[in-house]
Amino acid sequence: MKCPFCEKNETKVVDSRLLKEGFSVRRRRKCEGCARRFTTYETIEIQMPAVAKMDGRRESYRRDKMRSSLDKACQKRPISTDQIERVVENLEKNILEISDKEVTTKEIGNLVMKYLRNLDPVAYVRFASVYRKFQDVDEFVNELKGDETNYNIDK
Ligand SMILES: [Zn+2]
Repeated sequence: MKCPFCEKNETKVVDSRLLKEGFSVRRRRKCEGCARRFTTYETIEIQMPAVAKMDGRRESYRRDKMRSSLDKACQKRPISTDQIERVVENLEKNILEISDKEVTTKEIGNLVMKYLRNLDPVAYVRFASVYRKFQDVDEFVNELKGDETNYNIDK
């Protein structure tokens, strides 16, 4: 890490402290050139894959967007904020298992439907009907009849 004052490359860590239950580290550093001190923060960053849409365009994955589509599907249903948060976390793990480079909106949609099917039937149908809007009816019915794969969600 370069010294922000004299830009010398050699700096020494003089103190290290875990923050926020261990998910970030605060480091106090000292420059070996000018002897000034500064602080750095190290946090975890997980790189999500790009999302390829039906029309071929790509966009970056956004957790807030995922959250709000789940919120909408679960509106006025007996599902807690914690449950939705856990679904998002599990979904992100599954998405990363598909690829860390690129996933399609279809792959994401299918995962969301599998989670919602286990969570709440009304939320599932709501999401599925919006999500499958542009696809044919047979496919939608098949989806409803579809496999009973259980995705483990901590409830
Ligand atoms: Zn310096």
